[in-house]
Amino acid sequence: MKIGKYIGPAFVIFALALPNAVFLFELVHQVPPPIGRLTRPMLTLHQVLFVLGCTGLLVSAAFAIYRFALARRALHLVLFFILLDVFYRLAYGGPVSPGLLHAVPETSQRESLELLAGHPALTFFLSGVALLGTWATVHSWRLDLRFSIKRYVQLGVIAASMIVASLAIEMLPTRKPQPISAAVVEELQGIFPVDIAVAFSAVAIDGLQARHTAAARAAFAFANPHMTDAAARRGTQEIYVVVVGETSRRRNWSLFGYTRHTNPRLEEISGDLVLFNRMTSNATNTILSLPLALSRAAPTAREAERSEKSIVGLLKQAGFSTYWISNQERPALSSSPIAQIALEADHVSFPNDAPQAASTDRFDSNLITRLDETLAHLPPDAKAVIFLHMEGSHFSYRQRYPQNFAVYPDAHDPPRSLPERQTRLVDEYDNSVLFTDQNLREAIDGLTRCRCKAGLIFFSDHGERLFDNGLTDEDFGHGFPDIARQEIEIPFFAWFSSEYRNSNPSVLTRLRDNAKSAAQLHNLFETIVDMTGVDYDRRATTLSLFSDQWQPPASLQVLGLNENIVTLPPEGVAGTAPEASLSRNGQ
Ligand SMILES: [Zn+2]
Repeated sequence: MKIGKYIGPAFVIFALALPNAVFLFELVHQVPPPIGRLTRPMLTLHQVLFVLGCTGLLVSAAFAIYRFALARRALHLVLFFILLDVFYRLAYGGPVSPGLLHAVPETSQRESLELLAGHPALTFFLSGVALLGTWATVHSWRLDLRFSIKRYVQLGVIAASMIVASLAIEMLPTRKPQPISAAVVEELQGIFPVDIAVAFSAVAIDGLQARHTAAARAAFAFANPHMTDAAARRGTQEIYVVVVGETSRRRNWSLFGYTRHTNPRLEEISGDLVLFNRMTSNATNTILSLPLALSRAAPTAREAERSEKSIVGLLKQAGFSTYWISNQERPALSSSPIAQIALEADHVSFPNDAPQAASTDRFDSNLITRLDETLAHLPPDAKAVIFLHMEGSHFSYRQRYPQNFAVYPDAHDPPRSLPERQTRLVDEYDNSVLFTDQNLREAIDGLTRCRCKAGLIFFSDHGERLFDNGLTDEDFGHGFPDIARQEIEIPFFAWFSSEYRNSNPSVLTRLRDNAKSAAQLHNLFETIVDMTGVDYDRRATTLSLFSDQWQPPASLQVLGLNENIVTLPPEGVAGTAPEASLSRNGQ
């Protein structure tokens, strides 16, 4: 028997098993474990059976088509995607994403070489796999090899029963047949080559959708935007920073009354901050909330999200240098509303654009590094607006801060009384707030050093459920079909340099007056317009929190997950004042 004869089929088995073995390893080592219905050993058993079953089914399908020359050749060529798949999984974790497929053509040769050099062992291993794959492909090109139907049917049946068993385990706690859960669909999308197929089709669909809205937004221009008192402002430096927080809830900020001391650095300068302690977001996830905060759209009139540029575009048109500096990965799809807003800026920087910088500091502190670099290079007469997009307190919380910020649990600063697992998550969440506090203070200190007219606004895109009303999956996270108060209660504050305060004293008084009222994030657009001293034709000045005509909302408008409008009373559900919920939360 010639061994060479089997190199083709052997490579097929290897190529289907390798990325899925890596995926299975990732799945069972997911840290922290997902809070699910299953105990950890049962969950692991489900995952092992599922991934093995899917891989087995793929191998049997591959052998079923192996006798057909065209299918066999195509199969061998497709299997070269394991190089991309395995590299991405081992270097970054997680399956191949549409974002990666978008990034591949944009990556320069130098960047690719740097990236490979950064992972020498992996590169060496995958070069070996590539050689093996080439040999196998050449060898099997003209092969006449037939497997008995019995063999691959047997394998297929075994694999299918493993999948059935894994699904049965998943349904075990409910004790009745159920539709395939979202968790299983997610697992399926991690299986090679399903992940590759999903990523490619997402990119294709996205391209079609993005073309439509991008064209409308590109053609849009605000009417006559300009800096007010432009002549007087010429020659002086003005810098404004808008920090877009992530999943930060007001209830866990000591600046707003949380019993734990999570804002030590901002509390030191709290006299210089205008605190809005009744601000709410208009949605409970990033993708719905940020367009409402940063465009002229309101929950009841959202057309502007699709047809107009955002505040970034307006400021650019008015003559500001605009920056979008993000610690969130470049949005996978260019039709993503966040990508469209970010890409309006003159200068755009995502962490995955610069693999070296991101690998040395993956925390939000890298935003401060990039902010400081930007500030250092601004000319003395610059007019700049810099947007910083944080990772903030997004799950998994404990990956959001460096080890020296892991101060909780702290016996002197106890948390609410909750079971062990929930306590750990609250501790980790609070550590992430503590780190956000540090980064915001550093941003403010950087602006202070400019000794120029400067202002900073911080807001979070939405809040988070953190076991306020129970201990189950539904009491933890954000973006649920129904809306919980703590998902929309967000920290919001403004800071201004002494140079800014001295030149605009009356404006700041009005902002402080309005800060006492309930307000919503869709007021941000016109508020930034006023902060930066801009005007344009037919603007709705009364929507600005700087306006003496500003009216607090009679009710809060929030977008549900199905983009339906939910109306909530501003004072809290059933007459619960925010202060009351805070103290209850603190117990
Ligand atoms: Zn978010």
